[in-house]
Amino acid sequence: PTIRELLAAGNRSFSFEFFPPKTPEAEEVLWRSIREIEQLRPTFVSITYGAGGTTRDGTIRVTERVAQDTSLTPLGHLTCVAHSRDELRSVIGAYAGSGVRNMLALRGDPPGGPSQPWVAHPEGMNHAIELVELIRSLGDFCVGVAAFPDKHPEAADLDADARVLAEKAEAGADYAITQMFFGADDYFSLVDRAAAYGCDIPILPGIMPVTNIKQIKRMAELTGMALPTAVTDRLHAVEEDPKAVREVGIEIASELCEKLLSGGAPGIHFITLNRSTATRQVYLNLQGTTV
Ligand code: FAD
Repeated sequence: PTIRELLAAGNRSFSFEFFPPKTPEAEEVLWRSIREIEQLRPTFVSITYGAGGTTRDGTIRVTERVAQDTSLTPLGHLTCVAHSRDELRSVIGAYAGSGVRNMLALRGDPPGGPSQPWVAHPEGMNHAIELVELIRSLGDFCVGVAAFPDKHPEAADLDADARVLAEKAEAGADYAITQMFFGADDYFSLVDRAAAYGCDIPILPGIMPVTNIKQIKRMAELTGMALPTAVTDRLHAVEEDPKAVREVGIEIASELCEKLLSGGAPGIHFITLNRSTATRQVYLNLQGTTV
């Protein structure tokens, strides 16, 4: 099924994001996690698109195996980074050939991270919206896009960013998944701003529980945004005890998900980092409190 159809069915959507592994050991960890998540019968699972060579092949390979060897619906991410239009066409063809109909159309970050200036491939694309249009033109695919409750670092302001989301929806995006964030109000403001531009596609909140102190810095690097002090204070208060940090991180994520769902979010997209236990615990906490 397409994610469009699954979201239209009206049930809350729960999905889990993985990245392509770089070593045989990491591959084993990934598949153990995917098998555990499979038992929860999520709406879909997604596989990120790496910054270069080998992990890109890994994205196609893992996504294909999910499509063929599991009961899960896979979503393959795709970015414009360092690809010509022809190369993008062939990746879309590879997804289609593996039975993958769901793709997340992204621009991607420069290889040095979100703090570096964006440079398009000379025969490539400048913005995700062009990739939405390309995927749409190539067949009956279901296309998702990125959204940013805390604003994309390059966007002039929150409103300009919401307008971009509305334009991506108009170009054929069926739904959006957000960057990780920590404020429920920021998510609802994004939904309202997008709606003001006529954008009513489902916007799935992307949630990543913090499980250790080092991740605070890593998350800020990945998103280009600092974590709110309301969150970091709670984590630093127990930083001497790694087990407590993990528990507080799971608690913070569970509280956020509860606010989002009770406020009308259509589901939750969990970023797993290929370890299923923390996000599975948040998911189970939600079943306990919201069913
Ligand atoms: P765009 O929509 O192109 O937006 C980029 C910037 O340009 C924004 O500031 C936007 O406001 C502006 N903009 C967009 N269109 C226009 C226009 N027409 N005119 C003027 N300005 C415009 N990265 C990876 O490398 N691999 C992944 O697998 C991956 N998965 C992700 C999954 C999710 C759910 C999210 C939220 C992000 C993911 N990313 C991934 C990171 C993402 O690629 C970066 O955040 C990137 O910087 C922005 O991507 P985008 O698709 O939103 O780009």
